[in-house]
Amino acid sequence: MDYERQPYRRCGRSGLLLPAVSLGLWHNFGGGKSLDSQRAIFHKALDLGITHFDIADRYGPPFGAAEATFSRLLSPSLRDEVVVTTKGSNPMWDGPYGKGNSRKHLLATLDRSLARLGLDNVDIFYLHREDADTPLEEQVATLDYMVRTGRTLYVGVSNFSPENTARAAGMLRDLGTPLLVHQPSYSLLNRRIEDELLDVLEQHGVGCVVYSPLAQGLLTDRYLNGIPDDSRAAEGRFLTPDRVTPQVLTFVRALAEIAEARGQSVAQLALAWALRDPRITSVLVGASSPEQLEANVAAVDRLDFTDEELAAIERTAKE
Ligand code: NDP
Repeated sequence: MDYERQPYRRCGRSGLLLPAVSLGLWHNFGGGKSLDSQRAIFHKALDLGITHFDIADRYGPPFGAAEATFSRLLSPSLRDEVVVTTKGSNPMWDGPYGKGNSRKHLLATLDRSLARLGLDNVDIFYLHREDADTPLEEQVATLDYMVRTGRTLYVGVSNFSPENTARAAGMLRDLGTPLLVHQPSYSLLNRRIEDELLDVLEQHGVGCVVYSPLAQGLLTDRYLNGIPDDSRAAEGRFLTPDRVTPQVLTFVRALAEIAEARGQSVAQLALAWALRDPRITSVLVGASSPEQLEANVAAVDRLDFTDEELAAIERTAKE
């Protein structure tokens, strides 16, 4: 583990530090990939000072597979050097208790996650999404109970609106279990959190770990010469080929010029750009190879932006 390779940033007003670049296991850690390739990415992450691994009950395929893979990768001797997360809410099994944010489902899905991970606890448990049918009081009381029963050290929410984030943060503070972190989507192609959420997080002292900062690979050179057979867009499950539009490609080519002048790739520029705001704790990247991960972490070598560079990026985004 090379702790000098990247900066560690404080997650909101908590005591927890997270690496500027973290690794997500949504793709590439389920069935269909060899354990050797998964081990190579994981070990590269450790070499690069990545101490934070983002997982969810559903990540696979099949559901649960990424957690099972992670249990084979993480040696017990490293447990105290890493932050392991999981999430619950999305459908996991049939019937009324197989999904949602009821106390009934959340405790069961976390206990199943812990069994697959082979761990006594995770470091962060997230509500993966909102559940308008379950009172928020029940949801936050369940998070508080998870901490008090030792199942997780910290709690977070993902994909929550600014309003419900503020409500949850207030209720959790009253229960004595502060909301550690929010996990929203954020990239040069999706800037919704700039409208309101980032202000709410700052006000409540909540960290912000952003997912898909490369827009699933669109903000890289991956698609500049067509759709490679081994790419996520070719797989077509979560990133469909129709999202590789001429407009996106024009934008990426223009960004590549700005990036080149900074001595960066377009992916590195996109990650550094997301990290330019100190309220962003960490960017959560995915990687289908150790090389991609290594290239992405190198974004931290040039995190500063001149006003001219930021203005050029804004102009490009508006074209
Ligand atoms: P990214 O935006 O970083 O996309 C990752 C993909 O981009 C890779 O799998 C790869 O695709 C491509 N890529 C990455 N680096 C490079 C590079 N240097 N050059 C070329 N292509 C590159 O993030 P993800 O969408 O994977 O999300 C990251 C994590 O965020 C997830 O693993 C998960 O933990 C979390 N997440 C959370 C969600 C939530 O609801 N809370 C939702 C979605 C994600 P390819 O396979 O084509 O090589």
